[in-house]
Amino acid sequence: MSEPIYVVGHQQPDTDTICSALAYARLRKNKSEDVVPARAGALNPETQFVLDRWDAEVPLLLDDAADEQLILVDHNEYSQTVTGTEHAEIVEIIDHHRIGDIETSEPILFRNEPVGSTATILTQLFDDANETITTQTAGLLLSGILSDTVVLRSPTTTDRDRTVAGRLADIAGVDYETYGKDLLSQKSKIGEKSPREMVLSDFKEFDFDAHQVGIGQIETVEPSVVLGQQETVLEAMDDVATERDYAVFLLLVTDLLEEDSTALVAGPEIDPIEEGLDTTFTDQESFLPGVMSRKKQVVPFLEEAFNSTGP
Ligand code: MG
Ligand code: MG
Ligand code: MG
Repeated sequence: MSEPIYVVGHQQPDTDTICSALAYARLRKNKSEDVVPARAGALNPETQFVLDRWDAEVPLLLDDAADEQLILVDHNEYSQTVTGTEHAEIVEIIDHHRIGDIETSEPILFRNEPVGSTATILTQLFDDANETITTQTAGLLLSGILSDTVVLRSPTTTDRDRTVAGRLADIAGVDYETYGKDLLSQKSKIGEKSPREMVLSDFKEFDFDAHQVGIGQIETVEPSVVLGQQETVLEAMDDVATERDYAVFLLLVTDLLEEDSTALVAGPEIDPIEEGLDTTFTDQESFLPGVMSRKKQVVPFLEEAFNSTGP
């Protein structure tokens, strides 16, 4: 038998990444292909809740992807891939982020769409393949959409996400507002974590014109849990920025109820952050009204600001 193909999402996996890997492996297995769902790291409490709720398997932990065949879901840049991806064969990508720096030697299927979640695109792929979406798969895909879009409230939400979420909720047999609230309360379970675990739990690394930038996000209904221990949180951020030689480490503490964020910053290159976000930091802190989406309201502006500073 030939080697399996692994479907894998980004590091610090979130619910959309894990549920998309599970759903896409399911779709491909329905066509009798040897496709295995995998993950690049530990599950967060929200995703654990989702897998328990829908009685789904935990994807296999892929420590080293070198020499494997990979389908990437929910990301497409090397700074976010599982270890060894530079030496793997990427055979397909399904994503909803900016186009990153992945290179392949052969032409591949690369499906990237500006929608609220990878799960939204996967629902379309089930339809295109004329495959029935089971209750379990509907529950997983719905979770991916609701998690990424903060129950359809994030500015990344499109009409397609809304339509697809309604349909998946029907199949799964849940009310998506009620189920979404359960998800959000899981997302907020950060109290037991150390400051370092907190700032790295939903964390992405970017290469902006040769500046290494880390951007973490804590989405919570109780921002005071994080901001109440700001000093130790900033210390943890300073440590990470120094260890990894980051130009800057930005942390968004997003208030899911007020729909805004408080930004904390560590590292030497704060100027491009202030310029990109049109804000001023006082004691490494700044308030960002209306900001909920790292992808849409932060990353493009920082990339532009760093590009104009030169490498
Ligand atoms: Mg994701
Ligand atoms: Mg996503
Ligand atoms: Mg997310």
